[in-house]
Amino acid sequence: MADNNTKQTVLGWEEWVALPNLEIPGLIAKIDTGARTSALHAYAIEPFGGDKNPHVRFKVHPIPDRPEIEILCSAKVVDRREVTSSNGESEWRYVIETPVRIGDKTWPIEVSLTNRDNMQYRMLLGRRAIGDNMIVDPNKSYQQAKLSYDLYRKVKKTKSSLRTLRIGLLTREPNSYTSQRIVQAAEERGHVCEVINTTRCYMNINSMAPEVHYDGRVLPQYDAVIPRIGASVTSYGLAVVRQFDLMGSFCINKANAIGASRDKLYAHQILAQHQIDMPVTAFAHSPHDTKELIEIVGGAPLIVKLMEGTQGKGVVLGETRKAAESVIGAFRGLRANFLVQEFIKEAAGVDVRCLVIGGKVVAAMKRQAEEGEFRANVHQGGDVQPTKLSKEERAIAVKAAKVIGLGVAGVDILRSDNGPKVLEINSSPGFQGIERASGQNIASKLIEYVENNVKTRVRRKPRRPSRKNIKETFEGLGGET
Ligand code: ADP
Repeated sequence: MADNNTKQTVLGWEEWVALPNLEIPGLIAKIDTGARTSALHAYAIEPFGGDKNPHVRFKVHPIPDRPEIEILCSAKVVDRREVTSSNGESEWRYVIETPVRIGDKTWPIEVSLTNRDNMQYRMLLGRRAIGDNMIVDPNKSYQQAKLSYDLYRKVKKTKSSLRTLRIGLLTREPNSYTSQRIVQAAEERGHVCEVINTTRCYMNINSMAPEVHYDGRVLPQYDAVIPRIGASVTSYGLAVVRQFDLMGSFCINKANAIGASRDKLYAHQILAQHQIDMPVTAFAHSPHDTKELIEIVGGAPLIVKLMEGTQGKGVVLGETRKAAESVIGAFRGLRANFLVQEFIKEAAGVDVRCLVIGGKVVAAMKRQAEEGEFRANVHQGGDVQPTKLSKEERAIAVKAAKVIGLGVAGVDILRSDNGPKVLEINSSPGFQGIERASGQNIASKLIEYVENNVKTRVRRKPRRPSRKNIKETFEGLGGET
């Protein structure tokens, strides 16, 4: 036990205890030297993390007779053992190690988890948890500082960074650089990140209790979900994200925002509505409007872009009016959706990628096109370099992510003679180029963002369904945070 103080600490037979790593601010424990080990009364006990990284998630009712107050906890499993309780019943229990605080002393103890909600004391502190410099006076109670259940009113606002989070990474590319970095960063920060193949999820959307099924089992409720939805599975992917959102997981990007960023026309409309500068852009459906379209964007040279294109593949430069007309004619012949855009010549094959996480630009890079190429995409052979953003560039990137509603976004900007112009907003930005160019650990910043946003662990379930309680339950299912 880590206690250098030689003065003896006296514990009564009942004491207020805090379990800081489980984010339990206070409960009353029975100090029982008759018992060898300690126990915490937990329910909804659910293992995760597999054999390699065993964890357990559980809920605690810290206050007897107040079942509506529940705290969601998680911890690393240090053992699984058979424990015989005082009434002679034996049961296999998960054992976790967690610091306990009584008065001004904090030390780590082992606690087994058991579901015995009818017990008066939420916790039992056995003799192995009682330190060398502590004695128990069985005739007295509360020899150490008394806490209060009022502490649970404040808990709602605190962050969740101490707890091991169960994070789901929704992707079809588990081996990509970005996926691997996210899993690695989550583990380095003490969490468990499970990779879920988006297209293998299936759902019962009529269910009163939303669920996601996978490989014949129901997926757990993740604390957070990191969606990386490829363009080819947007609509199905969004339905999956929405389902996780309904289940109460914190989704770093919500389905509607991902959908808005994917739809170039809609995204442009939102940006325009919020006075965010973009290259002049025109959309049309009818083949009769080609000349008009060219006029709107100021004539040739101009850019024609396929709506569904990514990685620069559907982006064509019409250098002369004639060339522009024939590209537009060709796209129309293919019945493709496209837009026509002013060509920002002075950008000179350079675009700037700003990575926005939680309303801040956390890194930026400059992409330079190859000689003779105007598209700066890395996939088109572009080179990445660090770049310093102006205040204006920072502000426009943050605002663009905000109006689209993305918590995490890659905002692409062109540097024009009239200031920065937003080109595109990506809801699943890759980390490889930007980590290399900026030297920043973006994956870790993403996980930090998750930690700061995971829903409160205190849920107040309604006792009976009044109007107010219905609202609370709804919030408990995971609204905006
Ligand atoms: P994608 O979504 O396929 O990546 P972008 O709109 O990002 O397509 O365009 C790809 C690249 O082409 C950009 O990175 C930029 O370098 C260049 N580009 C796109 N639009 C313009 C424009 N209006 N003016 C100048 N260059 C552009």
